[in-house]
Amino acid sequence: MRQNIVAGNWKMNKNLQEGVELAKELQSALQAEKPNCRVVIGTPFIHLTEVCKTVDQDLIGVSAQNCADQESGAYTGEVSAEMVKSTGARYVILGHSERRAYYGETNEILKTKTDLALKNELTPIFCIGEVLEEREADKHFEIVKSQIEEALFHLSADDFKKIVLAYEPVWAIGTGKTASPEQAQEMHAFIRKVLADKYGQDVADEISILYGGSCKPGNAKELFSNADVDGGLIGGASLKAEDFRGIISAF
Ligand code: PEP
Repeated sequence: MRQNIVAGNWKMNKNLQEGVELAKELQSALQAEKPNCRVVIGTPFIHLTEVCKTVDQDLIGVSAQNCADQESGAYTGEVSAEMVKSTGARYVILGHSERRAYYGETNEILKTKTDLALKNELTPIFCIGEVLEEREADKHFEIVKSQIEEALFHLSADDFKKIVLAYEPVWAIGTGKTASPEQAQEMHAFIRKVLADKYGQDVADEISILYGGSCKPGNAKELFSNADVDGGLIGGASLKAEDFRGIISAF
C-alpha cells in the first residue's frame, strides 16, 4: 500500500549552519517520538551533504529542490541529478510552481529532469497544480491532467511507481489560502483516476499524492484524513521544527 509522506520544502531559506541546526532538531524530535509517516526535507543544494551526514535517512529522507535537465557539461551554475545523488540525497522536488513560473520550466523540460532523476535513483516529488485564473475558468482538471500526461506518461508502469506526486494549487502556496479538504480530495481522486486510466487501478493505488499549499499544524489533520490525500508538501511551516512536527503528527 502507498506511503503517507510529509515533505518539507525549505526553498531559498536558511544558511548552512541554520539548516544543519534545523535538521538536528528534527532528528532528535523524531527519534524521541517516531513518526507514523515518511518524513522528507527538501534543502538547498549546498546543504545536502551536511544534512545527509546529520540525519538518519531511514527517519528523515533528504531531498534536493531541483536538478538540471542535462547530464553534465558546460551548464554554468547547474547541478545535475548525478551530483545530487552523490551527496547522499534520495529525493528531488521537480516542477514546483515557482520553478515553472520564474525559471520557465515546461512539461517538456520536466520530462527530461524526471528521466535523469530516475536514472540516478532519486525519487522525484513531482509538483502539479493550477493557477487561480485556471481554477476560476474551470480548467483546473484539464491543466493538471496535461501536466501529468506531458511530463510523466512516457514512463513505464514500473518507473511511474517510483514517483511521488504533489498537488499544489498555486493560489494556495504561501498565500495563507488553503484548498478546502473537499477541493483537495476532489482533485486527488481525479488524479488517481487519470493514473488508473493509463496504468491500471493497482498502480494508481500505489502512488502517494501529497497536498501542498498553506498546510499548517491546524489544518493538516483535516486535509490528510481524506482518502486520496497521502500527506503534504510543506513550505513555510517546514522552517520551524515545532510546526513541521505538528504537521507530521497529524498522522
Ligand atoms: C510549497 O511551496 O510547496 C508550499 C506548499 O508552500 P506553503 O506551505 O508555504 O504554502
